Amino acid sequence: MRLNRHNYFFKKHATLNQSSFNYFKDTNMKRKIKGFHLDEENDWVAELECHHGQHVRHQPPFINRPWVISKSGRNSKLDHELNCLKCDLGEPKDDW
Ligand SMILES: [Zn+2]
Repeated sequence: MRLNRHNYFFKKHATLNQSSFNYFKDTNMKRKIKGFHLDEENDWVAELECHHGQHVRHQPPFINRPWVISKSGRNSKLDHELNCLKCDLGEPKDDW
Protein backbone atom coordinates (compact mmCIF):
# COMPACT_ATOMS: atom_id res chain seq x y z
CA MET A 1 0.00 0.00 0.00
CA ARG A 2 2.74 2.35 0.96
CA LEU A 3 4.67 1.44 -2.16
CA ASN A 4 1.62 2.07 -4.35
CA ARG A 5 1.19 5.52 -2.93
CA HIS A 6 4.81 6.22 -3.58
CA ASN A 7 4.48 5.07 -7.17
CA TYR A 8 1.44 7.25 -7.63
CA PHE A 9 3.34 10.26 -6.37
CA PHE A 10 6.30 9.45 -8.54
CA LYS A 11 4.12 9.13 -11.64
CA LYS A 12 2.39 12.42 -10.94
CA HIS A 13 5.70 14.13 -10.38
CA ALA A 14 7.17 12.68 -13.56
CA THR A 15 4.16 13.94 -15.56
CA LEU A 16 4.60 17.39 -14.09
CA ASN A 17 8.24 17.43 -15.09
CA GLN A 18 7.32 16.38 -18.58
CA SER A 19 4.83 19.21 -19.00
CA SER A 20 7.28 21.81 -17.68
CA PHE A 21 9.81 20.45 -20.12
CA ASN A 22 7.32 20.89 -22.95
CA TYR A 23 6.52 24.38 -21.75
CA PHE A 24 10.14 25.42 -21.96
CA LYS A 25 10.59 23.66 -25.26
CA ASP A 26 7.73 25.67 -26.77
CA THR A 27 9.05 28.96 -25.40
CA ASN A 28 10.83 29.71 -28.63
CA MET A 29 8.69 32.26 -30.41
CA LYS A 30 11.27 33.88 -32.66
CA ARG A 31 10.18 37.38 -33.65
CA LYS A 32 12.13 39.85 -35.73
CA ILE A 33 13.07 43.29 -34.40
CA LYS A 34 11.37 45.95 -36.51
CA GLY A 35 12.35 49.07 -34.58
CA PHE A 36 13.30 50.60 -31.24
CA HIS A 37 11.97 53.23 -28.88
CA LEU A 38 12.70 54.56 -25.39
CA ASP A 39 10.17 53.85 -22.65
CA GLU A 40 9.20 56.26 -19.87
CA GLU A 41 12.23 55.17 -17.84
CA ASN A 42 14.60 55.82 -20.74
CA ASP A 43 15.19 52.14 -21.36
CA TRP A 44 15.37 50.88 -24.92
CA VAL A 45 12.55 48.67 -26.06
CA ALA A 46 12.81 46.52 -29.18
CA GLU A 47 9.64 46.61 -31.28
CA LEU A 48 9.03 43.09 -32.51
CA GLU A 49 7.17 42.13 -35.67
CA CYS A 50 4.35 40.67 -33.57
CA HIS A 51 3.85 44.18 -32.09
CA HIS A 52 5.16 43.21 -28.68
CA GLY A 53 7.84 45.29 -26.96
CA GLN A 54 10.87 43.74 -25.32
CA HIS A 55 13.41 45.60 -23.19
CA VAL A 56 16.94 45.53 -24.54
CA ARG A 57 18.68 47.30 -21.69
CA HIS A 58 22.35 48.09 -21.44
CA GLN A 59 23.13 47.79 -17.72
CA PRO A 60 26.75 46.75 -17.34
CA PRO A 61 28.09 44.60 -15.83
CA PHE A 62 24.85 42.62 -15.58
CA ILE A 63 23.40 43.16 -19.03
CA ASN A 64 25.83 44.15 -21.75
CA ARG A 65 24.25 45.48 -24.88
CA PRO A 66 26.54 48.35 -25.86
CA TRP A 67 25.05 48.26 -29.35
CA VAL A 68 21.74 49.60 -28.05
CA ILE A 69 23.32 52.95 -27.15
CA SER A 70 24.07 54.02 -30.73
CA LYS A 71 21.69 54.42 -33.63
CA SER A 72 24.00 52.47 -35.94
CA GLY A 73 24.22 49.69 -33.34
CA ARG A 74 20.44 49.49 -33.11
CA ASN A 75 20.10 49.54 -36.89
CA SER A 76 22.51 46.62 -37.10
CA LYS A 77 20.08 44.59 -34.97
CA LEU A 78 17.04 45.20 -37.15
CA ASP A 79 15.60 41.91 -38.41
CA HIS A 80 17.44 40.00 -35.70
CA GLU A 81 15.22 37.55 -33.85
CA LEU A 82 14.34 37.54 -30.17
CA ASN A 83 12.27 35.04 -28.24
CA CYS A 84 8.92 36.67 -27.54
CA LEU A 85 7.60 35.50 -24.19
CA LYS A 86 4.52 37.69 -24.63
CA CYS A 87 3.51 35.67 -27.70
CA ASP A 88 3.87 32.48 -25.65
CA LEU A 89 1.62 33.98 -22.99
CA GLY A 90 -0.87 35.23 -25.59
CA GLU A 91 -0.59 38.82 -24.42
CA PRO A 92 -2.31 41.63 -26.35
CA LYS A 93 -0.27 43.86 -28.65
CA ASP A 94 1.71 46.67 -27.06
CA ASP A 95 1.15 50.35 -27.82
CA TRP A 96 4.00 52.66 -28.74
ZN1 LIG B 1 5.18 38.68 -29.46
